[in-house]
Amino acid sequence: MEEKQMLSFDGRVAVVTGSGRGLGASHAKFLASRGAAVVINDLGGSAQGTGASATPAEEVVAEIVAAGGRAVANFDSVTENPEAIVQTAIDAFGRLDILVNNAGINQARPFGPDVLPSIRQHMEVHFFGTAGVTAAAWPHLVQSGSGRIVNTTSPTLIGFPQQTPYVSAKGAIFAFTRTLALEGAEVGIKVNAIAPTAATRMSDEADISEEFKQFMRDNLPTSLVSPVVAYLAHQDCAINGEVLQAQGGEVQRLVLGFNTGFTSTDLTPELIQQHLAEILDPATHVPFEQVDKQDLGAVGK
Ligand code: NAD
Repeated sequence: MEEKQMLSFDGRVAVVTGSGRGLGASHAKFLASRGAAVVINDLGGSAQGTGASATPAEEVVAEIVAAGGRAVANFDSVTENPEAIVQTAIDAFGRLDILVNNAGINQARPFGPDVLPSIRQHMEVHFFGTAGVTAAAWPHLVQSGSGRIVNTTSPTLIGFPQQTPYVSAKGAIFAFTRTLALEGAEVGIKVNAIAPTAATRMSDEADISEEFKQFMRDNLPTSLVSPVVAYLAHQDCAINGEVLQAQGGEVQRLVLGFNTGFTSTDLTPELIQQHLAEILDPATHVPFEQVDKQDLGAVGK
């Protein structure tokens, strides 16, 4: 690739949460390799959300610095101290242009009376972690003039067994991304998300078959997700409010939309029963436009 075509991050400052391992480490190293100064935030706990360690973040910082890049570590939890994570960027590099909300945990939990603590914990780390660091970063991203937020949702949004805590939190991030993008458009901030799949510690410890884990290790490296994050994080990113599924080199738009459905002003349960095929018809399905082009009146219809 010619130098002039490269999307450079020279002069840009990024925070990547949960970047001591897995996808976050890959995103941070990619951004740093293109010139960004990066805050490596990681609590360093287990994949299930217990414990803490400074080692993962310190190791990623050392790797970036050894490769000639700029990075500093932060060990705060996204749930406990989001302001300190953002302040680390300001103290070290004087500005903030990019926030990649990536930190996450995963516990398989069958639904039942005991599930609520796990739902709360997932909402706390994934959703409130994302919302909290984003809120702390917002004024700095406005000041940047081309602030970029890349959130992390999941392809499991389509439904996944034993995962109501995790998938519910990822659903909240989807909705948060979509609607915050409307406010971002007014102040020059683009808010998008990825729905990744890649071999990491989290996938290695997930409740999925050993065969699929091996498939992931062989075919779905984190390095095939990070270029998508880098595009969404770049000042030239041309989309807002979008969710891109990224796995093994595939990049696809994940959408909300309505189909034509069925209409009657004399609705009865029996009419629903009779017209289910039209109500569910995928052939008439139309995805929503990008947030800055959509007709919001149509949403409330
Ligand atoms: P991982 O476990 O390898 O890395 C997650 C990192 O987040 C860890 O280093 C962990 O210490 C950190 N973290 C957890 N809680 C934190 C907190 N409160 N504060 C700061 N850091 C915290 O997992 P991964 O697969 O790299 O996951 C990264 C993101 O991608 C997560 O949001 C995950 O839900 C999402 N995701 C991953 C996959 C996949 O296939 N790996 C699929 C869909 C979504």
